[in-house]
Amino acid sequence: MRQPLARELHDLLERGRDRQLRLAVTGLSRSGKTAFLTSLVNQMRHAGLEARLDLLPAAREGRLLGARRVNQQDLGVPRFPYDQAMAALEETPPRWPEPTRGISELRLAIRYRPPRRGLLGSDTRQLTLDLFDYPGEWLLDLPLLAHDYPGWCQAQQALTGTERRSLFADWHAAVAALDPTAEADEAQLAAIAERYAEGLRAAREAGFADLQPGRFLLPGELAGAPVLQFFPLPGLARLDPAERERLPPESNYATLARRFQYYQQHIVRPFYREHFRRFDRQIVLVDLLGALNAGPERFQDLSRALATLMQSFDYGQRSLLSRLFAPRIDRLAIAATKADHVTPEQHGRLVGLLEALLAEPLKDLRFASVPVRALSLASIRASEAREVEHRGQRSPALRGTSLDGEPLLLFPGEVPDRLPDADFWARQGFHFPAFRPLPLEGGALPHIRLDAALDWLIGDKLT
Ligand code: GDP
Repeated sequence: MRQPLARELHDLLERGRDRQLRLAVTGLSRSGKTAFLTSLVNQMRHAGLEARLDLLPAAREGRLLGARRVNQQDLGVPRFPYDQAMAALEETPPRWPEPTRGISELRLAIRYRPPRRGLLGSDTRQLTLDLFDYPGEWLLDLPLLAHDYPGWCQAQQALTGTERRSLFADWHAAVAALDPTAEADEAQLAAIAERYAEGLRAAREAGFADLQPGRFLLPGELAGAPVLQFFPLPGLARLDPAERERLPPESNYATLARRFQYYQQHIVRPFYREHFRRFDRQIVLVDLLGALNAGPERFQDLSRALATLMQSFDYGQRSLLSRLFAPRIDRLAIAATKADHVTPEQHGRLVGLLEALLAEPLKDLRFASVPVRALSLASIRASEAREVEHRGQRSPALRGTSLDGEPLLLFPGEVPDRLPDADFWARQGFHFPAFRPLPLEGGALPHIRLDAALDWLIGDKLT
């Protein structure tokens, strides 16, 4: 799957001339990656025509001429299913696109005119934008590289919480019967691993996000392979470390430890080495409103998962990331998605909350001089902002349609602009249902501030 050298050289030169950019979109499942990429491609294809991109100067100044899809280079990476996504949104009634499950790619050739300098008109130029979409769950695996198997077992054991534990009850029952020193039985390990994966899936369904190993949730072509048949051993602390290391290679302990190492070397590292390290810019999407809606335990969990995920953007010289992979993104955006779930005057608070939640990683990034911006957006706006009058007072509201087709007019509540405290949860002041996408009336997809994100991520390359 290696590209010929000449191709790589050509790429390198193009990049040097700022004519090529690799932009990655990530976020945990359901954070809105598929919607974001679909809308981004859609807006670019309608640039210069119906797309509303006033916050992107090249578009506002009429210099953005349009974009077309061209063949991607890396034939080993699936193509982002833009046409299928648009087909779902164009159905009657419209449907949200099916989310992607692994890494996918799409290449756009964007035509633009640089700002006019002097008397002469300027030429048309082209920016080749390589877009990548990959699951944020994969980034939860970075810390796994810092552990050996016993250390990882211990770290996983520290993740408790009543609701979380109950979701893993079957696995706990099964693993309790496993003797680490006994000879491994393939079928038994596979069965226990499947229960572990079921626990992870149930936890994700319940809205939990701090879930490792990431590939257990999105195995792709690895489903059923022995590399995904390991799990932490809760009873390990009871074994003397020296004795543990003397166990024969056929033992349960040694087998699981070997699979863990294989996972590190052949799954986690290659992703960072072959993909992550080569991205120029990234946007991390966060479904903050979904977590607020789901209650305190899930919100806590999202917060922990994001702290883990953000370690993949820790460019400090001594960070695990820098030591192992020397990455080189020069710009990062972090966006709270689905902002159309709250009324417009709440959008500023949403960014405030995002910044509060990510205060530590943001501080580290700024310290390491990685330009980073937090924002809120709706990739595909599915509601309309309205005002309603109640007892002579006007107040903001949203109008939309529920997923089962019920018309809705509501005020979802106030977003706390700092981390929610016990009081906030006690008041349960926040609730919203999901909206069905708006029917498409030709033209570009409706959005909120996707153009602001685009300006931050590619605007400087369109000058
Ligand atoms: P992914 O798993 O990260 O690719 O997430 P998706 O893009 O599939 O989004 C998950 C779900 O969130 C979608 O099916 C929609 O229900 C919802 N969603 C995503 N983006 C938006 C948005 O901009 N507005 C609204 N109202 N809902 C959205």
